Amino acid sequence: MRRIYLDHAATTPTRPEVVKVMLPFFADTFGNPSSIYSYGQEARAAIEEARIKVAELIGARNEEIIFTSGGTEADNFGLKGVTYANERKGNHIITTSIEHHAVLEVGKFLERRGLRITYLPMDKYGLVDPDDVRKAITDKTILISVMHANNEVGTIEPVEEIGEIAKEAGIYFHSDAVQTVGHIPVNVDKLKVDLLSISAHKLYGPKGVGALYVRKGTKLVSLMHGGEQEKRRRAGTENVPAIVGLGKAVELAGQEMDREIERLAGLRDKLIKGLGEKIDHIHLNGHPTRRLPNNVNVSVDFVEGESILLNLDLEGICASTGSACSSASLEPSHVLLALGLPPEQAHGSLRFTLGRENSEADVECVLEVLPGIVAKLRAMSPLLRTQK
Ligand code: PLP
Repeated sequence: MRRIYLDHAATTPTRPEVVKVMLPFFADTFGNPSSIYSYGQEARAAIEEARIKVAELIGARNEEIIFTSGGTEADNFGLKGVTYANERKGNHIITTSIEHHAVLEVGKFLERRGLRITYLPMDKYGLVDPDDVRKAITDKTILISVMHANNEVGTIEPVEEIGEIAKEAGIYFHSDAVQTVGHIPVNVDKLKVDLLSISAHKLYGPKGVGALYVRKGTKLVSLMHGGEQEKRRRAGTENVPAIVGLGKAVELAGQEMDREIERLAGLRDKLIKGLGEKIDHIHLNGHPTRRLPNNVNVSVDFVEGESILLNLDLEGICASTGSACSSASLEPSHVLLALGLPPEQAHGSLRFTLGRENSEADVECVLEVLPGIVAKLRAMSPLLRTQK
């Protein structure tokens, strides 16, 4: 059976070009980058080349890039690092209610240690109001953290405006750009961020590697102590093959970005339109225009997103749902609830995130298969019977 992968916000396949450049660094050029002989120095040079590529893609200086084990570590590092370094200055952080758990859980952790966190509300499209950010600032605020685009509904936040507010107030500004770097233009000066999180596996690089951009002059405490790697900011022997892979992935993403934005937005809009035409009682989640080019998130009334996913899987189609019964918890997605969706609509949500390998035929296949699945499930649905 042909498989159609439509879950690129969860992860992406590592590109063959990326795997190819990584391979020599496992067994041939295996030296420790801290060693002074040539084996080590070749590995060191490869890391520095990757650093240049990451910096170039986001308009940063090379020394402002710190390699991490992924987006989660970058978010932890940004939030905890700034908090610990600025304990004397204040104890208040502003963030949003739709951040990834890698930010929200850090918030909870810091709250247990006495910090005050403001979680800003969202409008029905998942947009934060920059004015709310301004109003939440106090003389104790040390950090603002607002994601660049949301991983579930794809809404692109007004990061530039918030960056301006943070700059005027002299407060550090972090943005989780895990879903945007390599997909839409990201420039740290334009966005006016001091810290920005990146993850390789969302942009066709390997899993377990990412980076934190840290603007020169930002006070940050390290989370890892040990050796002097990453200019003493992140101890531990570098994951050389993964870092090299991240470098290649960002290089390719930069080259193909404009073309892919246009192509994917076309597929996205075709899918949204088609779903609206072929299925009744279906609603688009997230912003109609300020959204990632590859994101389609809908709620289908009277059915469980999970049941749809299982049926799609039988047809070879991989998608995702904000109905968290698929994970360990029974709670629906915190993002959809923050947008004001009633729990039953959040449970009926479906996310399709398109990627490089997807074509018009894939979209057509979903449009052909999904209406039948929904009709079948609705025919059995107690939710629909209650409504009638
Ligand atoms: N932030 C966002 C917005 C994400 O979508 C993800 C991954 O799902 C992460 C952070 C975590 O990144 P990683 O999987 O590299 O730890």
